[in-house]
Amino acid sequence: MSYDLKNQKLIIASHNQGKVKEIGDLLDPFGLDVISAGALNLPEPEETGTSYIANAELKALAASQAANLPALADDSGLSVTALGGAPGIYSARWAGETKDFNYAMKRVADALLLSGTNDRSAEFVCALSLAWPDGHIVSFEGRVGGTIAWPARGDKGFGYDPIFVPTGHTITFGEMAPEKKHAMSHRAVAFSQLVDHLTNQT
Ligand code: IMP
Repeated sequence: MSYDLKNQKLIIASHNQGKVKEIGDLLDPFGLDVISAGALNLPEPEETGTSYIANAELKALAASQAANLPALADDSGLSVTALGGAPGIYSARWAGETKDFNYAMKRVADALLLSGTNDRSAEFVCALSLAWPDGHIVSFEGRVGGTIAWPARGDKGFGYDPIFVPTGHTITFGEMAPEKKHAMSHRAVAFSQLVDHLTNQT
């Protein structure tokens, strides 16, 4: 069995438009034929895993098996040190039913204030899993460290981007040009591991 993506349609196993856009941008140089799980009306599996990789794997496998095509899934989130790693794998849930990230970012800022520490360190984590219809799966994890800014700044990106300042920078991901975020983000780090794997397999 060959696990080559050339001349294959690839599903981006996400219903999150922000992620689909970023993964699409990262995949763009490879000239693959990509389609999102949302566009195919695939069901969104419940994220019952207890780690980023477990959730990425269950999303990739579900999409791949439903469509009988290879599928790439991302599970990611923001881990804040002073909050014991929260919101972590529950980052999407902190935005509530209406997926209101202004509310989620305010929850993070309020929880940090309540924690009573000055430690504003945090990291974004991204697990990427690529699954094939026969159950073959590979997974990679990328991280980017930074600090939490408040109030939120910038209207680019998605999710928690306006409150995250990556280490060595003064602007938030929400203020950063997408190409610049793509050059350093947790998703880009995981993605480059995936590309290395695909390039080096025999
Ligand atoms: P899930 O992977 O579907 O559980 O959702 C992860 C959540 O983490 C997203 O809805 C975003 O709110 C947040 N998140 C993940 N990656 C990023 C990012 O690159 N920028 C901002 N927020 C992110």
